[in-house]
Amino acid sequence: MVKQVIPKTLDEALNYLYDRSYQIIAGGTDLMVQKRSTAETPPLFSNNILYAFHLEELKFIKRSEHCLHIGSMTSLETLLHHEDTPKILKEVIYEMASPAIRNVATLAGNIANASPAGDSLVPLYLLDAQIILLSKNQFRHIPIEKLIIGPRKTVILKDEIIKDIAIPKHEFTQFKWIKVGGRRADAISKVSFLGAVHIDGDQVLDFRIAFGAVYKTVIRNREIEKEYKNISVQELKNKHDEIIEKYDACILPIDDQRSNKEYRKKVALNMLSDFIINL
Ligand SMILES: Cc1cc2nc3c(=O)[nH]c(=O)nc-3n(C[C@H](O)[C@H](O)[C@H](O)COP(=O)(O)OP(=O)(O)OC[C@H]3O[C@@H](n4cnc5c(N)ncnc54)[C@H](O)[C@@H]3O)c2cc1C
Repeated sequence: MVKQVIPKTLDEALNYLYDRSYQIIAGGTDLMVQKRSTAETPPLFSNNILYAFHLEELKFIKRSEHCLHIGSMTSLETLLHHEDTPKILKEVIYEMASPAIRNVATLAGNIANASPAGDSLVPLYLLDAQIILLSKNQFRHIPIEKLIIGPRKTVILKDEIIKDIAIPKHEFTQFKWIKVGGRRADAISKVSFLGAVHIDGDQVLDFRIAFGAVYKTVIRNREIEKEYKNISVQELKNKHDEIIEKYDACILPIDDQRSNKEYRKKVALNMLSDFIINL
């Protein structure tokens, strides 16, 4: 029989996770859909369930010297309205789901769900986010691109919980987020693009690009980015075709009910092209 627990503290939650296998529920906005059954019957869970959304210890947004720490049970809506949330992350969250869903949905749920179309993953990759995992016996910091290893696959162990998400300080002078969905709100991305630069005078000091829903995971390629830093804006623009060619080789989308691979690739590359042209 499925066991359901509602720990009162983080310690209690870690003890439960150590003792046996539980599925953690944060906002439940992914899980309740995944486990839905027929109309008017409760969702069908085959695993034990640990409810975590009420854990106050995991609801925080704190600044440290080098990072912003976001507690894993902080709702997306809280993040959207908090003064310390990076602007780049706010823009992405603003286009996720609807206010009702955002009131309970969390970044941690979006991360652990590991969908290639998970919108918040795109800025988290671009911002070099570190995921802090906690279990009864260990504490691990893992960069998001090492935590997510494929569609719906992560390296989170059964006895671990995402405690918080650490976002290093960054400085961009320009960024562009574009989400292409079937409608303006409450839509899952067909393809998404985030580009960010730091330009000082005419020098490009930082150049970062991330794509969602066009590969098994979010695409961010630091090797490509490195080649276009510390050059002038004009030099970068002159290399437009070369950059497009390089990302063309990385983008390997799939066909699914929302879109097909040809459309996804063409739109992704068009968004990158516009970003470079408009620097
Ligand atoms: C109507 C609707 C619209 C949506 N729109 C969007 C959208 O625009 N963009 C988008 O990206 N998503 C969207 N979603 C999906 C969903 O809302 C997000 O993925 C959300 O961020 C999930 O967070 P949650 O807290 O509800 O996760 P949950 O459903 O509670 O959990 C999701 C997964 O994460 C695990 N998990 C949760 N917290 C932790 C933790 N602290 N440690 C370890 N594992 C954990 C759970 O075990 C589960 O496997 C939408 C969903 C709905 C229903």
